[in-house]
Amino acid sequence: MAPPSRRSPRRQPRPLSHRAVLGCWTEHAACGPWHRPRGLEPGDWQPDQLGARTELAIEVCAACPVRGQCLRHAMTTGEPVGIWGGLHPEQRRHVT
Ligand code: SF4
Repeated sequence: MAPPSRRSPRRQPRPLSHRAVLGCWTEHAACGPWHRPRGLEPGDWQPDQLGARTELAIEVCAACPVRGQCLRHAMTTGEPVGIWGGLHPEQRRHVT
């Protein structure tokens, strides 16, 4: 029989957004847990399809202080999905 977990269910770590593991610039991300506007979720930057919530997320990107780093990351790693630097995948395909 396994020993009981010491971790209380209330103290389980919150799931990290995909950006939380990328480096220090993400600490300043407008979509990060400390700066994200109320009502938006990390998944709004990873939509299955574009919609009204995606448009709100892109508006947040427009004022994000690390927009350049975010877009550079997506371009150098070839991120195939999600909003990065305010651009969705189809838009990123046209960035040179
Ligand atoms: S540019 Fe947009 S997706 Fe990138 S870190 Fe900023 S808010 Fe997040």
